[in-house]
Amino acid sequence: MKRLSSLMALVVLGLALTAPAVAQGIAGPRYVKKAVYVRIHWDRTFYEYWTVGRRYSVAQLNALVNGYFDRARAVYATGPMQNIDLFLLDDFDRVTGPMADYYDSNSSASDGDDRLLNAMRARLKTGNVQKTTPNGTTHLLGRTLNIVFVHANYGGLGGAADVTIPSLGTGDANAFFSTGAGQGSTVNEQRQSVVDELILHELGHIFGGQHGSRNELADCPFGGPFEIMCAGYTNLQRRFGPANTNRVGNVMKYTLQRCNSAYSSVSSCENAVSTECSRILDYTQIQPCIDANVAANCRDICTGTQKTARRVINSLTSPIGRNVVVAPGPGQNQ
Ligand SMILES: [Zn+2]
Repeated sequence: MKRLSSLMALVVLGLALTAPAVAQGIAGPRYVKKAVYVRIHWDRTFYEYWTVGRRYSVAQLNALVNGYFDRARAVYATGPMQNIDLFLLDDFDRVTGPMADYYDSNSSASDGDDRLLNAMRARLKTGNVQKTTPNGTTHLLGRTLNIVFVHANYGGLGGAADVTIPSLGTGDANAFFSTGAGQGSTVNEQRQSVVDELILHELGHIFGGQHGSRNELADCPFGGPFEIMCAGYTNLQRRFGPANTNRVGNVMKYTLQRCNSAYSSVSSCENAVSTECSRILDYTQIQPCIDANVAANCRDICTGTQKTARRVINSLTSPIGRNVVVAPGPGQNQ
């Protein structure tokens, strides 16, 4: 502890000598982005296990899947998970939904997962979500993603995301999760916390997270702690490791157009930096101060269109009912 304190003192002293008053006047980046809109479906194995086997009503079953969504939404809303905004699109009847009759008597065969994902690609649409405000302006708010709850062993897997990684920017943002675990056709109920982790992990793939075949692409050191993208372990930490933070950050930047709303334009940011850096009494430090702060604070400035889209997103609640937004999928097919 003592060593740490003296180190801190040196750092503070160093800052005071080289760059006085710089930090106060320059607003750091404040990132906003588009959101991700999720539709939850179920297949026949899931519906039958919970309604016949466990005697759940449809209302209880909807509450069960909504609970899984709400917990995942809460984790992804926090810093280490990139502040990804998930909204539930609750705009169709799951009992008669497009995956409700899906049944595969040979699901545990090695290609059962591929057949399920192929059926999802064929039956479920994904694409852009838009909303037209009362003044007639249409705003692009983000992307849709479809997930299917199952209670079966599809291809030996508890869950999978579409093979296109990251799939959010394409037409196939699909993932499935099982509330069961087992060998072959024998499936037992899985613990809720393990299913929660599975959902966070598969959504991580949708957003660009990877682990490679032996976890060489993720932060999974021998003995732990393990990030959320580690495969083959449970009790994962609710965070992305450094490499996956970069991968997911790129998806946020390019697919969800993450941008900096702290300034109205690049030039107003550069002017603010220049004003603050000019206060430095050591003239040799002024230009390095400008260069460093423009690079750190003046990139990816939001356009006016991006900022108004964000205001529309902020006005939405989750779940989103019928006829609130326009999104490809069952809610728009009735
Ligand atoms: Zn994985």
